[in-house]
Amino acid sequence: MEEVIRLEGVKKYYEVRSGLLGSKILKALDGVTLSIRKKETVAVVGESGCGKSTLGRVSLRLLDVTDGRVFFKGQDISMMREEELRAKSFRKKMQIIFQDPYSSLNPFMRIGDIVAEPLEIHGYRREEIREAVYRALEDVKLVPPEEFVNRYPHELSGGQRQRVNIARALVLGPEYIVADEPVSMIDASSRAEILLLLKSIRDSREMGVLYITHDIATARYVSERVAVMYLGEIAETGLTTSVLKTPIHPYTILLLNSVPEPDPANRRRRRPVIKGEPPSPLNPPSGCKFHTRCPVAIERCRIEKPALTEYLPGHFVACHRAEEIMRGALSVT
Ligand code: SF4
Repeated sequence: MEEVIRLEGVKKYYEVRSGLLGSKILKALDGVTLSIRKKETVAVVGESGCGKSTLGRVSLRLLDVTDGRVFFKGQDISMMREEELRAKSFRKKMQIIFQDPYSSLNPFMRIGDIVAEPLEIHGYRREEIREAVYRALEDVKLVPPEEFVNRYPHELSGGQRQRVNIARALVLGPEYIVADEPVSMIDASSRAEILLLLKSIRDSREMGVLYITHDIATARYVSERVAVMYLGEIAETGLTTSVLKTPIHPYTILLLNSVPEPDPANRRRRRPVIKGEPPSPLNPPSGCKFHTRCPVAIERCRIEKPALTEYLPGHFVACHRAEEIMRGALSVT
């Protein structure tokens, strides 16, 4: 399948002023390489502050890159200005679904107008707008659309509001969507439905999806590939089946340990989980950034940064002890 988005060595740095001490550099993304194909979902997983939302926004060019390149279907869009992104239709082809279905919808606008707004901004004709709005509402299963177009957000459930958000993202016919924690604020009973819906729309519209989540367990259900991030870098990436079945990086192993065990018989078995908060990205640890929390860190980890290396087919890990962990000579749990 054709590649929709490709990030190559992307860095996003911010200069943060800190009183009399002058300024410091915050490395929100520090050399990330990632690609997403049509009909593929790549889940980006990590704790808050790891850079996953920044990654989503940089891939959409909602943020400028400090270094590295962003390609949309082979075209380098890293340095394009806003006018060029609009004129060449990149803005239409790349959309985002936000986390919060409550605050992201204007309470005074009808559903039909909310979904139509992006089309109006892009200068579509009335008839085209009506057709596209109805199609998008049908795609997100708010049917029949004529029953929903005149309603207001407060008349809908949380799950339905998130469907409106998805419809609004779809209405311009995007080929790439960033879904930033799209189900974290809706009730558990609607979550699976929304995730299944996203997957079926992705396939019927042949889109590529970047799915951002702090919950590694949901990556299993939505993604073909996964990238685990820690302090602005990819710690482990590969096919979701491979990474979740054979996690190698200690951080991934500990993240998976913190997922609640569905089988009550296993629930009592205590497994080590990740401790403490991630260090400040303003003051990241030297060498392997995970060494301050890693239970199997050695002296080398403090000094030398591990390179992302392929240990299984298409499965890459940045850890000095990956080989020992893989052959079972070293246990993280
Ligand atoms: Fe832990 Fe060292 Fe591997 Fe980093 S490189 S994850 S500190 S063992």
